[in-house]
Amino acid sequence: MKNNMYLSKPQFDAELNKCLQCQTKPCMKACPVSCSPKDFIGAAKSNQPETAAALIDAQNVLGEVCGLICPDTFCMKACVRQNIDRSIEIPAVQAYIMRHARENNLLSVTEGVSNGKKIAVIGLGPAGMGAIAELLKRGFYVEAFEKENIVGGALNLIPQMRLPREIINYEWQKLQQSSLLKAHLGAAVTDYQSLISDGFDGVIVCNGEQKCRTMGIEGEENAVLYTDYLRAPEKYKTTGNVAIVGGGAVAVDCAVTARLGGAKNVEMFVRRKIGNMRITSQERQTLLDNDIDITTMTRIVKIVRQDDLLTAYTVKTQFNDEGKLVDVADTMIARRGFVHIVYALGSSRAEDLIESEKIIYAGDLVNGGSTAVQAVASGRDAAQKISQLLIG
Ligand SMILES: Cc1cc2nc3c(=O)[nH]c(=O)nc-3n(C[C@H](O)[C@H](O)[C@H](O)COP(=O)(O)OP(=O)(O)OC[C@H]3O[C@@H](n4cnc5c(N)ncnc54)[C@H](O)[C@@H]3O)c2cc1C
Ligand code: SF4
Repeated sequence: MKNNMYLSKPQFDAELNKCLQCQTKPCMKACPVSCSPKDFIGAAKSNQPETAAALIDAQNVLGEVCGLICPDTFCMKACVRQNIDRSIEIPAVQAYIMRHARENNLLSVTEGVSNGKKIAVIGLGPAGMGAIAELLKRGFYVEAFEKENIVGGALNLIPQMRLPREIINYEWQKLQQSSLLKAHLGAAVTDYQSLISDGFDGVIVCNGEQKCRTMGIEGEENAVLYTDYLRAPEKYKTTGNVAIVGGGAVAVDCAVTARLGGAKNVEMFVRRKIGNMRITSQERQTLLDNDIDITTMTRIVKIVRQDDLLTAYTVKTQFNDEGKLVDVADTMIARRGFVHIVYALGSSRAEDLIESEKIIYAGDLVNGGSTAVQAVASGRDAAQKISQLLIG
């Protein structure tokens, strides 16, 4: 998480100048959608912003979104420049280029000549959008179905300070320019086979992970699920104490949201050690910058509401000789005085996957909690697969 969302012009120029233009393109090879930083940086450096943006857009329908939220574990991890000093800030460079393209209306949707085939795409998160972009390029007629009244899926849970909603909407509006696309919002679909019976030549299901994980402990109805918390953080604003249950990236977003909302103390409860937390170095730094408390090797076992405040009963945990996490006997204590206890344990899929030749699943629904760029890649791959089946 960066404090400033976009690079300044001098910072942008400095990053461009640092790029070594490596001929083997390790940065591209590490990108799930095979976007080529070497080439878009080269174009930007040669003062060709439109070409730079088009190179990104051709590979990634969510070019600006991913520029803002991609972790440093893909292209940046492969960047050769780190052998000299540090990796090029590739996602930030990408975000800068795509913001310029958005503000100057440089890009439009790419659609192929109609091939007469009709595909249904269900779920309009990154995977659904990745699938749609690829299908339109190949000339398919696409009908998209989204159960919510907004598009973007889990992107809508990412705090606005990291990802303003207008960017998601802009990327979607670009796709909607296509005469080959018809979208139905507020339209949940569960019977995929009936779409085939209704004349669709194929269905790509990109429903994400819709079931929030819980712990099954006494009193957990008093906790707030991270989806509710992040969807409407203003509803949960408090100057009191907030507990966050979980130690991953979603928990970090919840903790920072609580802190920026004015919470006095924000404490994360993590069952394992700090070193076991599945967060990036940037996220670790964010926790430090925002003065978030982390209570490790601790499990909440019961939540009790007393008037307006919540008490969390906790026990200490330890790894036994087999490496299994177990409770430590006689360590239960009552931690009083929380205004909110937020469950940030991630989600899992809410449906069984019954794939057939014409019904394909993509994104987090198949791959588990991943990243936006991986979901886009998965949606695109599904579109390529169905295209191969239908038109070769
Ligand atoms: C708090 C949070 C922070 C994150 N931070 C980052 C980050 O910094 N960087 C990053 O790259 N990734 C991040 N992610 C992960 C990223 O958002 C997901 O990996 C990505 O959105 C998954 O895309 P998807 O399309 O597979 O699923 P989703 O985004 O979950 O989209 C699924 C869509 O399907 C719709 N749907 C479900 N069932 C139906 C149905 N029956 N009919 C019609 N529509 C349906 C849903 O409403 C939803 O719109 C974060 C996720 C969260 C929750
Ligand atoms: S690996 Fe790094 S330095 Fe080399 S071309 Fe890619 S971005 Fe530039």
